[in-house]
Amino acid sequence: MTAIPTTGAAVVMPPDGGPLQFVQRPVDSPAAGEALIRIQACGVCGSDAFLQDGGFGPASLPRVPGHEAAGVVIAVGDPTDEPWVGRQVALYYIEGPPDSAWGRAGHENVGPGIRRMGVDVDGAFAEYIVRSIRTLIAVEPPLDPAAVAVATDALATPYHALTAVGGLAAGETLAVVGLGGIGSNAVQIGRHLGATVVAVGRGEAKLAQARELGAHVTAHSSDGAEAIIAAAGGQIDVVLQCVGENTAMDRLAIDIAGYRGRVVFIAVSQEDFPVRATELIWRELSLKGSRGFTRRDIEDVLALVASGALTTDHLTRHRRPLREAAEAIADLRAGAVLRTVLTMDQNEGDGQ
Ligand SMILES: [Zn+2]
Repeated sequence: MTAIPTTGAAVVMPPDGGPLQFVQRPVDSPAAGEALIRIQACGVCGSDAFLQDGGFGPASLPRVPGHEAAGVVIAVGDPTDEPWVGRQVALYYIEGPPDSAWGRAGHENVGPGIRRMGVDVDGAFAEYIVRSIRTLIAVEPPLDPAAVAVATDALATPYHALTAVGGLAAGETLAVVGLGGIGSNAVQIGRHLGATVVAVGRGEAKLAQARELGAHVTAHSSDGAEAIIAAAGGQIDVVLQCVGENTAMDRLAIDIAGYRGRVVFIAVSQEDFPVRATELIWRELSLKGSRGFTRRDIEDVLALVASGALTTDHLTRHRRPLREAAEAIADLRAGAVLRTVLTMDQNEGDGQ
């Protein structure tokens, strides 16, 4: 039985864009239905920079960020939950109302009243966190905590978009537009699902990485729709749009979709862009949005990581201790890394 600490380190993101604060905070006790988790690792991704920029609105700051995390349960509020103690868990970042019809139907990523860890409530840039047990996914047998952490977002997000939303089937052609943290993993997931994968990006390093992750064909986004369609062999069934910076890529994603194509938007570009009904009708296109992922998606991708079908090596290469969270976000903004994983175990010498 692990001793329950009284305080733990956490990183607070202030509302004014000021420097992150590294603080010691009291550790909460878990109530009935909750668990106290010692965080092992937490990924740092574009959403954390978006949070810092005020993208989630004024109510989201100040906040302890961190929504892609792995840990070990060290205490539970209810004796019937004792079997969780000592288990490695992946943390599902969304908690909806217990009576949500969406949650009951397995769509817990949408619906009214959802609260996102690291956005609406404090997250896992911390040594300890209390979470509802129904947001935990047991990892059996335990895996590298950094791999578990990044799988919960960097793999689960494109997995959800391609399976639950895009309906990608073996034998179809998938085009992935944008080859960052989400897109690069969409490439390897599409390959695993049996699709022919066309990776569309800019920059030779990202295109080379996409080939390593299983892309059959690569194309430059600046080549234009016709060239990309030709490179794909004439028909693209599913397009995943992962570039958030402007609407040019939203438009390109629609332009390259073939007959009965499904265009799935996953990047948060904020501006309007024009679409004509006739082009949707002629090609019988579906335009779809994909939001996050479900618990089931995390279970699926963890099984694929455990079996070796999916890799996280390119995502877990850069690791820093919790107290270097600011440097991790700076690296991300500079485009120096796809992700950094904060590893809390490196702080254990501080006397937890
Ligand atoms: Zn993330």
